Amino acid sequence: ARQFTRPLNDLANQFNTLLSAVAGAERVFEVLDEKEERTDEMDAITLTDVKGNVEFRNVAFSYEDEGDTVRNLSFKANQGEMIALVGPTGAGKSTVINLLSRFYDPDSGEILIDGYDNKKITRESLRMSMAFVLQDSYLFKGTIRENIRYGRLDATDEEIEEAAKKANAHSFIEKLPLKYDTVLEQDGSGISHGQKQLLSIARAILADPKILILDEATSSIDTITELAIQEALDQLMEGRTSFVIAHRLNTIQKADQILVLKDGEIIERGTHQSLMDDKGFYYKLYNH
Ligand code: ADP
Repeated sequence: ARQFTRPLNDLANQFNTLLSAVAGAERVFEVLDEKEERTDEMDAITLTDVKGNVEFRNVAFSYEDEGDTVRNLSFKANQGEMIALVGPTGAGKSTVINLLSRFYDPDSGEILIDGYDNKKITRESLRMSMAFVLQDSYLFKGTIRENIRYGRLDATDEEIEEAAKKANAHSFIEKLPLKYDTVLEQDGSGISHGQKQLLSIARAILADPKILILDEATSSIDTITELAIQEALDQLMEGRTSFVIAHRLNTIQKADQILVLKDGEIIERGTHQSLMDDKGFYYKLYNH
């Protein structure tokens, strides 16, 4: 498959900074929580029972002072839908995700979660509503168990195993000499890239969010692991609103909506079939 994108660099950096700064998962959340308390608006509300309806209303944003990185972004993602973001490198796909996850706020326009402006939602409840499965899995130095538990700190060992099973990770973990007590280095060395992804999926299943953010792996993964990942992702995405920076044709074809980005704008949208029928930019990308 063609590679349209590069990884979510900002997100990666933010996570890595946090994860490398601290040894244990508890400490990670303490750091996050401290930051959150400082930056919530006075009247911020706590969203409970998130449905996962997401709307961008005429969002514009720039990393620097001049020129919009993205503009005129308007779209709706209904509860449980899968939205694929496609487009050339630099088109703004990662920026959409950075805004959705509130690593940055729009310069103008609004982002609504279940109808609420995301600036008016506590960062804690926003964080609880979302989970990430990114190309580089954010593993920290600690055991496999701790790394999965990062998805939900009060999870029991049984719940962790349950999540690992759903993520197709249990069988490879069981084959390791120390199983769930295997210590991973910060970069997850000792296990394969695909296995890291499975751990990351297990973590997300444990977190049980209503909104999922996925950056599909582009690096080569053996076919069996790839299949395991695909199956685990399908499980994970069921019933959740998911935003996928998609690199694979089969993923994109399954999407309820494809947003085609170019130079910071949505230039086309629709299903795979409708976009192919339109014979526009998307069609060209695919026949490239
Ligand atoms: P994509 O994910 O589609 O490859 P990005 O959203 O990463 O695109 O990038 C959109 C534009 O914003 C690019 O021109 C990129 O160079 C720029 N950009 C991305 N991140 C930053 C940043 N942290 N600071 C400044 N510019 C950035």
